[in-house]
Amino acid sequence: MIDLAGMAERYLTARDIFLSNASAAGWQVESIAHPLQGPDGITLHTDIASAGNPDSDYLLMVTSGTHGIEGYLGSEIQSRLLAEGIVASGSRDCHAVMVHAVNPYGFAWHRRVNEDNVDLNRNFIDFDLPLPVNEGYEEFYSLLNPVTWNEQYEATLKSEAAAAIARLGLGPLFKAVSGGQYEYPKGLQYGGGGPSWSRQNIEAIWSRMMTRKKCATQIDIHTGLGEPGVGVLMTYGAEEQARIRRARTMWTDIFVSPLPGSGDVITQGVLGPRLEEMFPREDVLAVVLEYGTLPPVDVLHAIAADNWLHHHGRVDSDTGSRIKQIMLDAFYLDDTNLREKAYSRAKDVVAAAGRRI
Ligand SMILES: [Zn+2]
Repeated sequence: MIDLAGMAERYLTARDIFLSNASAAGWQVESIAHPLQGPDGITLHTDIASAGNPDSDYLLMVTSGTHGIEGYLGSEIQSRLLAEGIVASGSRDCHAVMVHAVNPYGFAWHRRVNEDNVDLNRNFIDFDLPLPVNEGYEEFYSLLNPVTWNEQYEATLKSEAAAAIARLGLGPLFKAVSGGQYEYPKGLQYGGGGPSWSRQNIEAIWSRMMTRKKCATQIDIHTGLGEPGVGVLMTYGAEEQARIRRARTMWTDIFVSPLPGSGDVITQGVLGPRLEEMFPREDVLAVVLEYGTLPPVDVLHAIAADNWLHHHGRVDSDTGSRIKQIMLDAFYLDDTNLREKAYSRAKDVVAAAGRRI
């Protein structure tokens, strides 16, 4: 159970540790306030720490909290990387940037989505073009967006999702549920009706940081998919692409691929491909470092419960506190050994990316 004060304290503590570790390591810090408040009326920020040589033609960026609450693990990893000096602040060959809480509203409110119920990783599309259609989504709409949420619903969701996985396979289900949709603003995986605050913010940060750069690596930390504590580097594209060859050279034995069994990869509206698209003349490689937490059905249950809460329930209630704890359990690793394992992988990934190749 975690109430509003508990959520506020968690967010502020994570942010304080990041800011103080960045300052102690000699990184420059700037903070951009979000227009809306967090739990208990706190102010929310996207914080940016930078070090190294801004005139270098190589940018290394590590981002957390694109999916709000997933930022708790990402924040800890960033703060520890700073404390241990994994990316040397005095490097002449690299301009290193860490963005803490790309989506601070979701981070502090224990949501994957932002203030508009938007999945930020489905929001980076061209809204002047016809919106993508997800034909598989409708079949699961009522199952994933209940009007009442109780133990009966939890049991139904789990059994029906397990049956759908058995019937369709995880891939098609993953695509239908996670592929994003632009028709149901109160549904799961809603991509939005225009560029969100977080998208505009991170695009402005990229534009500033990419000045004079010829090469960039961005590592966006996520949780909720895969084996508990195991970090998988994911990106898109074919082996023959120069960016994929660079990823293989840079990270050698660290797997760079979509998760096995996740079906067709989803690139529509995703943050990393947008960065690559914005700078077509530069050598830009954007990857997701994704950590597993709970089994897919439990993660799905957490997201559906949270969505129900924000449209039909009250965050400031016992049920709200219970669902916010369910979200934390689904997107954070509440186990020291698993977190240690997660950090170890991140350290290897970031250290390799910091050594310009
Ligand atoms: Zn995520």
